[in-house]
Amino acid sequence: MLNSKIPAGPLKDKWSNYQHTCKIVNPANKKKLDIIVIGSGLSGAPAAASLGELGYNVKIFYFQDSARRAHSVAAQGGINASKNYQNDGDNVFRHFYDTIKGGDFRSREANTYRLAELSAKVIDQAVAQGVPFAREYGGVLANRSFGGVQVKRTFYAQGQTGQQMLLGAYSALMRQIGLGNVKSYNRHEMLELVTIDGHARGIIARNLVTGEIERHSAHAVVMASGGYGKIYYLSTLAIGSNASAQWKAYKKGALMAGVSWIQFHPTCLPQSGDYQSKLTLMSEALRNDGRVWVPKSGSDTRKANDIPEEERDYYLERKYPSFGNLAPRDISSRSAKEQIDAGKGVGGNKNAVYLDFRDAIKNYGKKEIANRYGNLFRMYEKITGLNPYNEPMMISPAAHFTMGGLWVDYELQTTIPGLFAVGEANFSDHGANRLGANSLLQASVDGYFILPVTIGNYLADHIKTGKISTDHPAFKEAEDSVVNRIDQFLTMNGTTSAEAYHKRLGKILFDYVGLDRSKEGTAKGIELIRELRDDFWKNLKVTGTNEEVNSEIEKAGRVADYLELAELMAYDAHDRDESCGAHFRVEFQTEDGEALRNDKDFMYVSAWEFNGLGQEPKLHKEDLVFEEVKPSVRSYK
Ligand SMILES: Cc1cc2nc3c(=O)[nH]c(=O)nc-3n(C[C@H](O)[C@H](O)[C@H](O)COP(=O)(O)OP(=O)(O)OC[C@H]3O[C@@H](n4cnc5c(N)ncnc54)[C@H](O)[C@@H]3O)c2cc1C
Repeated sequence: MLNSKIPAGPLKDKWSNYQHTCKIVNPANKKKLDIIVIGSGLSGAPAAASLGELGYNVKIFYFQDSARRAHSVAAQGGINASKNYQNDGDNVFRHFYDTIKGGDFRSREANTYRLAELSAKVIDQAVAQGVPFAREYGGVLANRSFGGVQVKRTFYAQGQTGQQMLLGAYSALMRQIGLGNVKSYNRHEMLELVTIDGHARGIIARNLVTGEIERHSAHAVVMASGGYGKIYYLSTLAIGSNASAQWKAYKKGALMAGVSWIQFHPTCLPQSGDYQSKLTLMSEALRNDGRVWVPKSGSDTRKANDIPEEERDYYLERKYPSFGNLAPRDISSRSAKEQIDAGKGVGGNKNAVYLDFRDAIKNYGKKEIANRYGNLFRMYEKITGLNPYNEPMMISPAAHFTMGGLWVDYELQTTIPGLFAVGEANFSDHGANRLGANSLLQASVDGYFILPVTIGNYLADHIKTGKISTDHPAFKEAEDSVVNRIDQFLTMNGTTSAEAYHKRLGKILFDYVGLDRSKEGTAKGIELIRELRDDFWKNLKVTGTNEEVNSEIEKAGRVADYLELAELMAYDAHDRDESCGAHFRVEFQTEDGEALRNDKDFMYVSAWEFNGLGQEPKLHKEDLVFEEVKPSVRSYK
C-alpha cells in the first residue's frame, strides 16, 4: 500500500502543518551528513545550493561541462505565480484549480495546492537573485497568459526565462561551491544507484572525460535528472536529456508513476527531413497573440496570405470559443494532429498548421509584437528562412515534457528511503497534462523550498549513522555491473549504432504510444519494442574505448535504458482504459472527440514496480482523493 504521507488539516494549512511537525537537523549535526544531488537544472541547482547553505556536505553531479547548461536553460516562455499583479482575479486557489483541472484530475490535491501556494515566493527569490523579468512601464513585473488559464500569471524574461532563472540558481550554487559546502562534478554521469539495507546510500558515476568509474557515498540521494521526452528521439529536448538516472532507481526498487503521460507541445517547428535529431520549440507564449488555422480545403495550394478569411478554419477558436488559441497543450496538439491527419496540413510535408500574427500586428503594431516575441521571431527566421512578420509561422506538435516519473510522496521521497526526486524527474504535480509555465515553477519550488525541509525529516534519524564507506560490498556490486555493461557494449562489435536504434524506437513510440493510443496499438508497441531490444543486444556497435571521451558509450547506455522504459510506457498506456489529459485512448472519447475519463475505475495514479526484464511490472495504485475540488468534465469550450 502506497503511503503518500499527506499531512492532516485543510488544504491551505497542510504545508504549514507539515513544517510545524517535521523533524529538523540541528546546525551542528548537518556537517555530519552527506547528500548527493544528480542534476544542476532548475530543480538540482537550487536544491544543492539550499542544502549547502543549510550546512550539509553536498556533491552535485551533471553530465554537461557547466551547470549552466542543464536543459532548464532552454525554457523560453515563462514561470507561473499567482501574485495577481494584474488584478484580474488570480489567487492561490485559482492557480491550484487551473493546474488540477489542466491535469484532468489525475494529480494529488495536496502537492498541487502547495505548488500554487509557494509560487509567489519563487518570484521573490529570483528577483532577489537579479533575474531580469520583464516589467511594465511603472516598474511592476509584467505577466502574460499561458494555455489553460484565463488570467495573466506568467512571469517571463523575453523568450529566455529558463536561462535567466538558471543563471540565478547557478550564482547561488557557485557561492556554495566557493564556500566549500558543495562539491561540483561536471562531465560525470551517474550510472548506478547504491542501496544498503534498503536505503539509498550512494552512486556509481563515470567520469565522461577519462572514463574512470567512481564510487560516491551519501546519507541521501536526490534525483534532479530531468524528463525523458527524448525517448521519442524527435523531441524539443536536448540530445543528452535521458532517463537513465530514474531508470536505475526504478530497477533498484523505486516505483515509476504515470509513465505514459507525455506532453506533446503544439507549438514546435515541424519535422523537415529524415536526418533531423531534434525539433525546435516555439514558445506557447506566441499563442497569446498568434491565431492558429488551416485552410478549409485540404487541396488548397495557395500561399497563406492569399487565402481569404472565409476559407480559413481557425479551428481552436471554433471548437473552444472561451479559451481559443490558449486551449491547453494536450487539446491543441490533438486538434492539430486531427487537421493534419485529415489532409489539411500545410508546408512542404503537409505536417504543420499556421500560427498567424497578421491580426496582432494590425491591432498592436509591429513594434509591440517585436517587443513581446522578437527573439522567437528571429529564431524562427534563422531556422526556416521565413519572416513571421510577413507570413504565418508553421508549427506542429512534438514530444516535450514527461508528467510521469519517479513516484514520490508528499515529502518528495521515492519508495526507496533516502532517495528523493525533484523537478521533472518526479511524477508529482501535473497529473495527466502539465499546464505551460508550471514546470519551471515546480522545479524551483521543489529545489528551493520543499526538499530542503523534507529531507531533514529523513536525515534527522541518520545523524548517528556515521560516514558511509564506499568499501561496502554494495558499492562493489554496483560498480561491477557498470563495468560489465560498458565491456559488453565495447565487445559486441555489431553493425548498428545506438543512435539508429534510438531513432527506430522513437518511431515505434510515436506510432503506438504517441498522441493517441489504443489497446491493440499499445500491445503491438510492446511486441515491437521487445524485438528492437533483442536486436540491440545482438547487433549494437560501439566504437572507441572506455578511457576517453566517448559519446558512443554514453548513447548506448541511455538507449539501452530507453528500450526498457519504452516497454513500461506501453504497459502503462495499455492498462489505463480511459482517456485523460495527454493520454488519449481512441476507444474512450466523447461524441465530439474529446477525452472521456473514467473516474469510477481509474481515479488513481498507476505506480509500477520492476519485476524483472520482459516480465509484466507490478501495479500499485495511489487512490486520488479529492476533498476540496470536485472532479468535473474538463471543458475549455
Ligand atoms: C525547449 C523547452 C522549453 C521549455 N519552456 C518552458 C517554459 O517556458 N516554462 C516552463 O515552466 N517549463 C518549460 N519547459 C520545461 C522545463 O524547462 C523543464 O521541465 C525543467 O526545466 C526541468 O528542470 P529539471 O531541473 O527537472 O531538469 P533539467 O533542467 O533537464 O536538468 C537535468 C539535469 O540532470 C543531469 N542529469 C541527467 N541525468 C544524469 C545522470 N545520469 N548523471 C548525471 N547527471 C544527470 C543533467 O546533466 C542536468 O544537469 C521547457 C522545456 C523545453 C524542453
